[in-house]
Amino acid sequence: MRESELLEHIYRRSEGLAGASPDLVVGPGDDCAVLRQPGGGLLLLTVDQLLGGVHYKPGTPVDRVARKAVARSVSDIAAMGGEPRWALATAMLPKDYPEADELFDRMAYWASRWGCPLIGGDIGSGPGELLLTVTIGGEAHPDRGPVLRSGAKPGDRLFVSGSLGGSLQSEHHLLFEPRVALGTKLCDTLGRDLHAMIDLSDGLGRDGARLAKASGVRLVIDAERIPRRDGVTSWRNAAGDGEDYELLVAIAPGREAPEGLIEIGEAAEGSPRCEIVDSGEKIDAGEMGWDH
Ligand SMILES: [Mg+2]
Repeated sequence: MRESELLEHIYRRSEGLAGASPDLVVGPGDDCAVLRQPGGGLLLLTVDQLLGGVHYKPGTPVDRVARKAVARSVSDIAAMGGEPRWALATAMLPKDYPEADELFDRMAYWASRWGCPLIGGDIGSGPGELLLTVTIGGEAHPDRGPVLRSGAKPGDRLFVSGSLGGSLQSEHHLLFEPRVALGTKLCDTLGRDLHAMIDLSDGLGRDGARLAKASGVRLVIDAERIPRRDGVTSWRNAAGDGEDYELLVAIAPGREAPEGLIEIGEAAEGSPRCEIVDSGEKIDAGEMGWDH
């Protein structure tokens, strides 16, 4: 089963979830789950896994593996405009794995560096590749609240936070800086005019389609305006390679373009999809990205 189909299944199954937990504000289908905290405020929760041989190549230094495992979950907190607060990690180690101590030390280092100290975890050993799971709890922006995928409206301007494509070749997928500071700044400066965000883990096409579906809008993106990482020659790579971990942002029209964002298109009425326009040709980009 493809990841996208499995996620659909989980979303459908969870439609009744709000009743199951009175604290649940946002269930599966966004970058984080959102829970009401007993003392007030909203808790963001996300979990992601990193598998050897799939998410990084054999021979990748332990520090970079640890960094990526933490950074992916931090990026989901950034996508809601929140601040990471704590982290939990589990590791399923291959037999006779020699670097377990260093692995956890480096995960602890990166977690602290991004403001979410590693406060616990579990470790086991199994027959397969190294498998890391990182859960991060964060706090939603106190004034803006969590920025969901579902808030985009027709007429919104669309932006990305950096160059896209070529993440594997450039090792960007191991070295990216999650956009926490930018997400917070956008919440500070735009407030409710910041309509929707998602982090681009599976590519602009696929993640754009997710935001489009959640919001019930059509995204219309100009192929020429998609910023490309050095060495990326085609917009198809920029939109489809994945693992960019930049933010895709929808902002109400009539606002100044915020610093640090590159405008790539707009949200429009119409059946929800992510459309990339190349020399007048409209391409449905929803299947272009990475499907696990
Ligand atoms: Mg995400």
